[in-house]
Amino acid sequence: MRKRTIVIFLLAIACGILFGQWYGREEHISEQPVVEEMFVEPLPVYTTESFVIEEGDTFAVIMERMGYDYEDMQKVLDAGEGMYDFTQIVLGKKFVMKKKDGLFDAIVYDINSEEQAVITKNDAGDFVVTKQDIAYDVTEEHVHGTIEASLFVDGNKAGLEDRTILALADVFAWEIDFATVIQPGDSFDLLYEKRTRDGAAAPAGDILAARFVNRGKEYTAVRFVDPDGGIGYYANDGTSLQKPFLKAPLAYSRISSGYSNARFHPVTQSTAPHLAIDYAAPMGTAILSTGDGVVTTARYTGGYGNFISIHHNDTWVTQYAHLSRYAVSAGDRVEQGQIIGYVGSTGWSTGPHLHYEMVKNGTKVNPLNVELPAGDPIPDEWRAAFDEQKNAYRAFFEQE
Ligand SMILES: [Zn+2]
Repeated sequence: MRKRTIVIFLLAIACGILFGQWYGREEHISEQPVVEEMFVEPLPVYTTESFVIEEGDTFAVIMERMGYDYEDMQKVLDAGEGMYDFTQIVLGKKFVMKKKDGLFDAIVYDINSEEQAVITKNDAGDFVVTKQDIAYDVTEEHVHGTIEASLFVDGNKAGLEDRTILALADVFAWEIDFATVIQPGDSFDLLYEKRTRDGAAAPAGDILAARFVNRGKEYTAVRFVDPDGGIGYYANDGTSLQKPFLKAPLAYSRISSGYSNARFHPVTQSTAPHLAIDYAAPMGTAILSTGDGVVTTARYTGGYGNFISIHHNDTWVTQYAHLSRYAVSAGDRVEQGQIIGYVGSTGWSTGPHLHYEMVKNGTKVNPLNVELPAGDPIPDEWRAAFDEQKNAYRAFFEQE
């Protein structure tokens, strides 16, 4: 009897375990979210409205058109202090008012191609102005071109925007004088950021890597953002593309008279050495200091007309003659690429041009032939980071 009781007892336990497992499983299944009754919040409705700045519009006028009074306008100006000055808005640009469910969300104004000023309100209802990067969709675009006419013409033909062509000329400004040494058959390749915004074409972004072949010689450039956040271009062996002197003091021009030991001068009607380069350029073209330095002279000097002399260091001086106007005075410290004056025809000159001299240790040298010292290469501690960035463009540099 006792044995049977135990058997029944064990059977009961076994059944219990099995049932428990089954029941448990059932329970587990029922824990899955079946169909939950959810309150679905309707998606907010965003709307935008554009207000283009028209002839004669002030910020007050445009604010009024957006539905704000003078007091609000003043509050936005105050909120923008140190961030963006809305009195500087530009004709043809626009303010975009964003609303969420019909209520104010933000007003956005593109300051330039990279940044926008954003007007919002904080919890207290006060206007707040911030600056943010404009969001673009970016793809890397490879463009190849061959020079037939000029960098500008053939760059445009290859589909490049003016700003990208200028940026390319800037990248190689220390290596190649685009005004004078470019010739048919030269070629360029560049990898740059093609950008769109909300599906529409937008201004191109940065050049990431570039190659330029001038008279058979290849120049390379890699954009490198260093660990300190500095941005520069280096040749792909890590040497700096930046030199103490620019190749030319003008962005676009042509040489009208080269460096010569005997040249007939049309004004003086005599033959004399011309230890300089004359760049023909339209009246008023900006003249750039080719290097960092201090202006030692900026005054009318005989046949040189309006004349500037810049002391760069104990070895180098550069001089600029026949200017129409000055942008600096004697004693000013100038940076490489800074505008120091404008092309003119003062002094002994027959037409607008810049007479440019380089003086090394007191002796005039030919700016087109002079070997200029190189800038600093990638420092050792950044070498690995540079190589990594360069390797990202390996396919670009390895193609023919
Ligand atoms: Zn000259």
